[in-house]
Amino acid sequence: MHEFRYVRGVLHCEGASVAALARRFGTPLYVYSQRTLESRLRELTSALAPLDPMVCYAVKANSNLAVLAAFARRATGFDVVSGGELARVLAAGGDPARCVFAGVAKTAAEIEYALRQGIYCFNVESEPELARINTIAGRLGRRAPVAVRVNPNVDAHTHAKITTGTYENKFGIALEDVAGVYARAARLKHLWLRGVQMHIGSQLTSAAPFRRAVERVAPLARELTDRYGLEFFSIGGGLGIVYNPALASGDPAWWRTAAARRFLTPDRYAAAVVPPLRRLGLKILLEPGRFLVGNAGILVTRVEYVKATARKRFVIVDAAMNDLIRPAFYDAYHEIVPVRPRPGAPRRCDVVGGICESGDYFAKNRPLPPVGEGDLLALLSAGAYGSTMGSNYNTRPLAAEVLVHGRRAALVRERQPIEAIWQGERPAPWQ
Ligand SMILES: *Cc1c(COP(=O)(O)O)cnc(C)c1O
Repeated sequence: MHEFRYVRGVLHCEGASVAALARRFGTPLYVYSQRTLESRLRELTSALAPLDPMVCYAVKANSNLAVLAAFARRATGFDVVSGGELARVLAAGGDPARCVFAGVAKTAAEIEYALRQGIYCFNVESEPELARINTIAGRLGRRAPVAVRVNPNVDAHTHAKITTGTYENKFGIALEDVAGVYARAARLKHLWLRGVQMHIGSQLTSAAPFRRAVERVAPLARELTDRYGLEFFSIGGGLGIVYNPALASGDPAWWRTAAARRFLTPDRYAAAVVPPLRRLGLKILLEPGRFLVGNAGILVTRVEYVKATARKRFVIVDAAMNDLIRPAFYDAYHEIVPVRPRPGAPRRCDVVGGICESGDYFAKNRPLPPVGEGDLLALLSAGAYGSTMGSNYNTRPLAAEVLVHGRRAALVRERQPIEAIWQGERPAPWQ
């Protein structure tokens, strides 16, 4: 499943002791397992082998250059949502001809940059965007490859902040309007109608919404292909991962529970989507983010204080919501384990950061084994939407990041120097 486990009482990432990594690189520290992300990519591509899909890793999940380089070397494509992400992919050695560009707010400068780099396709979210891409492509003397993002109005039954495929969301174009949009786009001389795309949400834990969305959009994809000669259908990302405690402790018994039997795996995903997609005969694109990197990363933090009050026991750590915002933002669950477990009965604790916000917590009323000042804790499954959502709130530097491969560990992002936080700021001239 993943490569974090205890060896002689110390949490390890592959062959590296997490305690040693914390000593060497300090905390808070993101630690990524290269083997885990490689095996996740293999699992997905082998489950979907009958489709021979082009996997476009969703860069926003984890955009560290080392992570991108690991995927680039495996000839993976990329799904980017800004000019900045495209530039990162290129800096990491990624191939622009395997990049798709999504997002509702692409600026003229971003469109021009992506066109000049020769990306695979723009996934377009509105008609004004189609018109803008057409104008810019005309000015550059090019034809811009485009796909319209279809909003199939399927509820992904995930957290409201990560549901994207219903008519309440800002994303894509409503299913019933798409044919008309293609008809009008076909009259724009500088566009190349290359495909059709959808993405219904993130952290989906059952196959049913994927199946429903594919079945809803496939006939449209067929009709558009007959009419305009499309090349591909992208079914987006969204495969969920297990944040469950049992997985975190590496407990194979969890996989025999009823919840596990329903949980979305690459094989179940494939069983739902391969048959309807195979019949289409189009090139299939996937845009997984979280699935590839989520369980491949942990956030290591040190206990600063244990503060016992009349009602609560607060374990105050040196990481905070600026390092990992998912609990505060999505009420997300992250398993928290000691790097060196001590014997003793678990006690309920709130694990909190030092930021001046009550929302700055990682867990509430969570039973934890005995922990004291100076102990190391690991927040598991922090590889996706962790460091990429980091901020400098409270003038806290961005955490360092380490990539582990076997016994080797490389610092792939240095801890941000404090002065770098206000680099670019200055007093006004009249001060
Ligand atoms: C965020 C996003 C993805 C990736 O979502 P995951 O849940 O991380 O797999 C894929 N496609 C688009 C268009 C996205 O916005």
